[in-house]
Amino acid sequence: MEKFRELGLDGEILKGIADLGFETPSPIQEKVIPVILSEERDLVALAQTGTGKTAAFGLPLLQKLEVEKKNIQVLILSPTRELCVQIGNDLKNYSKYCPGVQIVCVYGGTDIRRQIRDVSKGVHILVATPGRLCDLIKRGAVDIDAVKAVVLDEADEMLNMGFKEDLNFILDETPEMRKTYLFSATMPREVERIARNYLHSPLEISVGKKNQGADTVRHEYYQVKAKDCYETLHRVIDCAPDMYAIIFTRTKIDARDIAHKLQKDGIDCDALHGDLSQTQRDEVMARFRSKRLKVLVATDVAARGLDVDNLTHVINFNLPEDVESYTHRSGRTGRAGREGISVAIVHSKEKGKLRRIEGVLKKKFEYKEVPGGDEVCRAQLLYYADKILAAEPKETLVNYQQELFEKFAELSKEELIQKIVAYEFGKLLKKYAGVEDLNLSESERQGGRERRRGGRLEESAREFTTFSVNVGKEDGFTPRDLMAIINENAPRKGLEIGSIRIFEGNTKFEVDIRGINGFAACFRNVNFNGLPFTLTEVKDRYGRDRDRGKDGGRRNGRDFGGKKRNSTANNKWRKNESRFGDKRKSSGAKKRKKST
Ligand code: AMP
Repeated sequence: MEKFRELGLDGEILKGIADLGFETPSPIQEKVIPVILSEERDLVALAQTGTGKTAAFGLPLLQKLEVEKKNIQVLILSPTRELCVQIGNDLKNYSKYCPGVQIVCVYGGTDIRRQIRDVSKGVHILVATPGRLCDLIKRGAVDIDAVKAVVLDEADEMLNMGFKEDLNFILDETPEMRKTYLFSATMPREVERIARNYLHSPLEISVGKKNQGADTVRHEYYQVKAKDCYETLHRVIDCAPDMYAIIFTRTKIDARDIAHKLQKDGIDCDALHGDLSQTQRDEVMARFRSKRLKVLVATDVAARGLDVDNLTHVINFNLPEDVESYTHRSGRTGRAGREGISVAIVHSKEKGKLRRIEGVLKKKFEYKEVPGGDEVCRAQLLYYADKILAAEPKETLVNYQQELFEKFAELSKEELIQKIVAYEFGKLLKKYAGVEDLNLSESERQGGRERRRGGRLEESAREFTTFSVNVGKEDGFTPRDLMAIINENAPRKGLEIGSIRIFEGNTKFEVDIRGINGFAACFRNVNFNGLPFTLTEVKDRYGRDRDRGKDGGRRNGRDFGGKKRNSTANNKWRKNESRFGDKRKSSGAKKRKKST
């Protein structure tokens, strides 16, 4: 506690955190607390989740409150309802001994009138999601004119969720003299832009290097055939009986399907995805937090801001398209100094993605063999044995123990164990008896380019080349749009498309090289929101970069027609509009979640 005192914290606050068992400050707390307490300057802190950043900004801001004034002095913005509530609860715990401090959380998906009533009673710290706060400001229900400090927590996530305009609006409403503290796990261009526009010569602090996950996380991967990914997942879960994990999938359909299959296979699990109502989401989360669910299957969006501290594993059933998402996913385990494991289940086509993540993270994934039936059964039985050994006999057993002893009197210890195992694990032992070895041979793992079976080129032997088109996130372009265009226009049906990565202003995707003859025709005479496509081959079939331009495919590459953005030729294309031509009405850069 002495160390916290040396950082400048005092009295009631120290008492509050002592009750929570805090003894020494975490690295980010050591760096941030003195700055907020005594240096009148803005701050950009690059910090992963689980580093103790809530206390890093929360403790000094609580200490600086002028409790006798009944106005909003601190505004904390966070991407999701869950994180909002978590921050609110943390601050209430820290200020347990600070009389009169009022902390209110406002977020979407719940009754706005109750929140308006709560705010009207007088608030010192308002914790909010951007969408809901904008609504409240526009209704005149919240006054942030006197705010002294704004915290942007998980700024990268807020921007990922499409809150850019809301953030701009809110920051413009706060006084020029406020201090701004920006926290982000990653520093993409959009976050840098916010920092540039709204922070005044901020002090930059980093705990852990850029894009690196927590050191307490071990990264492991299993490489199997695409058709064996589910069975591998199932065995990995069965082989870790004390697992408490989130499984990430790319789509909500996958999340639902996998949760459904795992439930059928007897695993306590459920799915969290965007189609759930707030009540259903709360119900799933309550079961997961109380550990009635061993695993939660979720999409990245649904899991945002979800704050569960003691996960043993994070499982990437599909690797995400970008490294930042992987950092966010894996950062959910290995928190508060505990060990965590981030598992990736990859098939041959995803190996490149894995290497890319390793490159940015500067960490190697450890290759793991898919457990066989024996390993799974051994893990389950020994776990069960440990549980039995750890169990304390109950006093009330005395009433029945004589009868029980007599019932088993004829059995030896060995026979008794055999019977218990047969009773408890009969199904498991049967299921795993003689199961197939899912591990690939060494040459299969290396992707043996010329490997053929039955005359057919196998999946791992496929070669892809990378193309780029000049529309991206800011145009509202989605993988579905891309696939629709290709499916409708490609001269060759069933063309294999590899990974699709959508950037702000462009999109990169892989195409099986056997289908690229005439492929450029897909994008001819087609425009998106009136913007003609420019198709560029970024990587040639030997994997060499053709495009070294920063804007990803609009320079240097081989162009396959189309015109530049804003070109005067737009009119000509409009005459020729495809069904993608009028999309901007319903989509485009404005598309975002209004509330969380
Ligand atoms: P956060 O990154 O703010 O979500 O914090 C992660 C976890 O670490 C939370 O459960 C905090 O209560 C806990 N924590 C934060 N600071 C400390 C500290 N100095 N000592 C012990 N636990 C802490």
